[in-house]
Amino acid sequence: MHRIKSTDLPVGVFESVQIQFDEAAKRLKIEPGILEFIKVPRRSVEINLPVQMDNGKFKIFTGYRVQHSLIRGPSKGGIRYHPTVNLDEIKALAAWMTWKCAVVNIPFGGAKGGVACDPSVMSQKELERLTRRYTADLIELLGPEVDVPAPDVNTNEQVMAWMMDTYSMHARHTVSSVVTGKPIEMGGSLGRKEATGRGILITVKEAAGHLHMHLSGSSVVIQGFGNVGSMAAKFFNEEGSKIIAVSDVKGGIHNPKGLDIPKLLEYVEKKKTVVGFPKAHPINNQKLLELECDILIPAALENQITKENAHRIKTKILAEGANGPTTPEADRILDRKKVFIIPDILCNAGGVTVSYFEWVQDRMGYFWTEEEVNERLDNIMTKAFQDVLEMALRHKVNMRVAAFMVAIKRVVDVIKLRGIYA
Ligand code: NAD
Repeated sequence: MHRIKSTDLPVGVFESVQIQFDEAAKRLKIEPGILEFIKVPRRSVEINLPVQMDNGKFKIFTGYRVQHSLIRGPSKGGIRYHPTVNLDEIKALAAWMTWKCAVVNIPFGGAKGGVACDPSVMSQKELERLTRRYTADLIELLGPEVDVPAPDVNTNEQVMAWMMDTYSMHARHTVSSVVTGKPIEMGGSLGRKEATGRGILITVKEAAGHLHMHLSGSSVVIQGFGNVGSMAAKFFNEEGSKIIAVSDVKGGIHNPKGLDIPKLLEYVEKKKTVVGFPKAHPINNQKLLELECDILIPAALENQITKENAHRIKTKILAEGANGPTTPEADRILDRKKVFIIPDILCNAGGVTVSYFEWVQDRMGYFWTEEEVNERLDNIMTKAFQDVLEMALRHKVNMRVAAFMVAIKRVVDVIKLRGIYA
């Protein structure tokens, strides 16, 4: 009989985070009991939401909220609407949020939420009813001092506005700091929409400096052209880089001479896809990842770079705009190929950093200019990159292990000061 070895088993995304955690934790001299405590989610909630559809019939949707850590402050993390959303994925994304907030040293723990649904076939009214029911069902677990959601894949400013309104109706007064990523008119922060893309540029600039590379004239490939991917394209284009290929869920486009990004942004605004953009060849998502380039930015979903395709990746810098785009096996292969990886918990932390600014501004009731937001974002991201690089050089580890080491140490330091209430 064929015996299955553990290495043959598919790795769930939550297990991927645990592998990354263990790799870093074993290098820090921390009591095993504390490590076990911070590795597992503090709470995981699964809810079944009845929603009346436009045809009058009720449909039940399954939703989740996982609060991974509340040690350094309220938990923070986005809400994802996608057909494949499941508890394992939400647990993984919540854990990554804990480590991300600690890497950039902002006073939050990590959380994530989601609903298994396909927003592309739902009307705005159906999405509104789903969002309000999701918020109302979780109401005791949310709050500016408790848990603060934000947008993620397929959720946006409008979804945040409905969440904020529903929470406020139950509280009987306006509570703008209960969610971030809101429209500017109702307590959103200037610069939030651009923040993740801008943060990617800041960390890649730092990496390029370390590797003696120039961004101007460098070739960039981006998978995913939503909030993160499109903003990254805009900023790298402004920096003088050549964006040679981009994609979305429907397919990709490639032009080795560089795509006209301002025109592409206008095209996507109208057509809702990059497919069919003139002066470019079609390319599928798999081939796109394997193009030769200086900077590869996965900005779609998890598990895109695996042991199957990692050997064929031909980039100098892998800037993880998405959460969890690289599996642990692929990580080892890329390490051997000397690809410089800027791990997700560092690379895409610009979004949560400006979400933190939004929460601060809402609580102060005083709003900053876009220049102030961007300058503070630059300071935090640059410092985070340098903290991680310093850890990597000191311990002779890669940037992912170093980022987890920085983050775990910061969480453990707070546990030691607070003590464990038992
Ligand atoms: P989004 O919904 O705005 O965009 C997602 C993009 O990925 C779309 O272009 C979609 O068509 C594309 N896509 C989906 N499935 C795909 C597939 N199988 N192959 C290729 N493309 C595919 O979402 P977003 O906010 O841009 O988030 C993208 C990633 O970045 C996610 O991993 C998210 O968790 C992460 N992230 C987002 C933020 C933020 O501020 N929005 C912050 C940090 C990390």
